[in-house]
Amino acid sequence: MAGKQVVIIGAGISGLKTASELYKKGFDSCVVIEARDRVGGRLHTVPGYKNNKYDVGASWHHDTLVNGLFLEELSMPKEQRASFVFDDDALVVIDQEKGRIDQDPDMTLEVLMEELLKYNQLQYFEDLDVKDVNFFETIVKYLYERRDLLTDDQIRYIPQLARYMESWHGIDWKSLSSKCLEIAHQGRNAFVLNYDTIVERIASSFPKGWLKLGTEVISVNTEGKKVVVSTSSGEVYESDYVVITIPQSVLAHSLSPTPRKGRIEFTPPLASNIQDAFQRTHYGALGKVIFEFDKCCWSKDRSRAITMAKSNPEIARKVRDAQELNQLVEKLNSDTKYNFKNGESWDFPLFFVNLAKHTDNPSLILLMADPLTTYIESLPEKEKVYDFFKPVVKEVLKAFDCFEPVVTDFEDKLDETSEGPVLKNVLTTKWTQDPYALGAYSACSPGDDPMDLILALAGSETSKVRFAGEHTIMDGAGCVYGAWNSGVREASFIAEKMGKVRS
Ligand SMILES: Cc1cc2nc3c(=O)[nH]c(=O)nc-3n(C[C@H](O)[C@H](O)[C@H](O)COP(=O)(O)OP(=O)(O)OC[C@H]3O[C@@H](n4cnc5c(N)ncnc54)[C@H](O)[C@@H]3O)c2cc1C
Repeated sequence: MAGKQVVIIGAGISGLKTASELYKKGFDSCVVIEARDRVGGRLHTVPGYKNNKYDVGASWHHDTLVNGLFLEELSMPKEQRASFVFDDDALVVIDQEKGRIDQDPDMTLEVLMEELLKYNQLQYFEDLDVKDVNFFETIVKYLYERRDLLTDDQIRYIPQLARYMESWHGIDWKSLSSKCLEIAHQGRNAFVLNYDTIVERIASSFPKGWLKLGTEVISVNTEGKKVVVSTSSGEVYESDYVVITIPQSVLAHSLSPTPRKGRIEFTPPLASNIQDAFQRTHYGALGKVIFEFDKCCWSKDRSRAITMAKSNPEIARKVRDAQELNQLVEKLNSDTKYNFKNGESWDFPLFFVNLAKHTDNPSLILLMADPLTTYIESLPEKEKVYDFFKPVVKEVLKAFDCFEPVVTDFEDKLDETSEGPVLKNVLTTKWTQDPYALGAYSACSPGDDPMDLILALAGSETSKVRFAGEHTIMDGAGCVYGAWNSGVREASFIAEKMGKVRS
């Protein structure tokens, strides 16, 4: 049995930061055990066509006024930090029939969107006991109550624009909590080029020998004075503290006895407040598809676009004729159902990043939410993925002033004379299929309270079993910098308890 001061489970950003801080504080005997054969976890930079680099996990530094990781990056010489660009310019909004409808002087959808978000927020500010409902229901309620103040077009298109929130939370409007909907942006968003620089920097700020890759932790036993951590390859570690940074989705499997990859057996079992809190939390699945072209034949004016799901031409009449809100919710709910068998890309809101605007890379990055993510990530071939998205990609290119048809050349056989865009490669994330991620990050459905799990996992003043990760913190919840903050928090806690004061 190897003796260590601290065992850290998981080498994502929270685990790496914990190790880095412990080393800074004078710890000299720790181990970071990681199931995958790489560090970074949900930060993962991969090569594509012509070795262009893409982040298939996180891409942005959010909340750059308060983001500690971003501020740490800024404090370093430029050549040592990851480049970034601010890409918050106005969103291009595309409808299947109408084409571009952003900044439309009659519909003023952007202004309405702000009003709708404020309407949602006010409901829960004014009365703490208001029942949490899904975002779809809140939108219908808004339309019903404000119908005399909205035009038919506004009633038709605002629900579809509002679905833009799905790409923040990674779940669809009918699963998304209205109470937890709001994203209070603390500063601009910076698109990182690329996160691998940051992961490598933090991973090399503590001894290499601490890292144990390709090793899955299978059990944590806290019955004795020390914590005993066992791995699937038979190693056993004994330590003063263990910091568990595995994703919420993987930790959830410790609640049931069924063996599976990533699952950790706890002896004694996880505390009852942790088990209870898991009943009031969910997990989203943001996914990405990257379309790599041979050259940029479209406009570089705008960074981002959203293609709205198709709207119902009958919706304004139905809203105006409605006698009762609940009936209207039911009616519109069945109007907006889809199934994947005959579903198509215009059933979903999709978010596009025009990478060519800020880099020399002629690629479009699409972001989607669950349940679409789970479906697309299960498709085995890039041809199938492209077939699904072809209609929207065509309209996005049109909205960016490219009217030539897309030619596909996945085998890279065409010469370079074609005038229009030649699609060379399609990359798709696989987070929902990855046993060490099982999706993207924590999310809230109606009735959830994310604070419960955070307090249950991170609130103990005495436990030797510590938790870190994006799901264990309020400041930066779900984000890279939240995970990073949680690593700082746990390292400080352990250092204080073990009498290490150096920082
Ligand atoms: C597609 C996508 C887009 C995103 N976009 C953004 C964004 O733009 N900005 C942003 O701020 N955030 C974004 N996020 C969220 C962000 O990536 C995460 O919040 C953050 O990286 C989580 O870090 P972590 O350390 O908490 O967890 P992880 O990175 O998941 O680290 C946990 C580690 O534990 C390991 N592990 C699991 N089980 C075991 C086991 N039994 N034994 C040993 N090791 C184990 C895993 O392999 C993993 O490496 C995105 C996430 C995804 C998936």
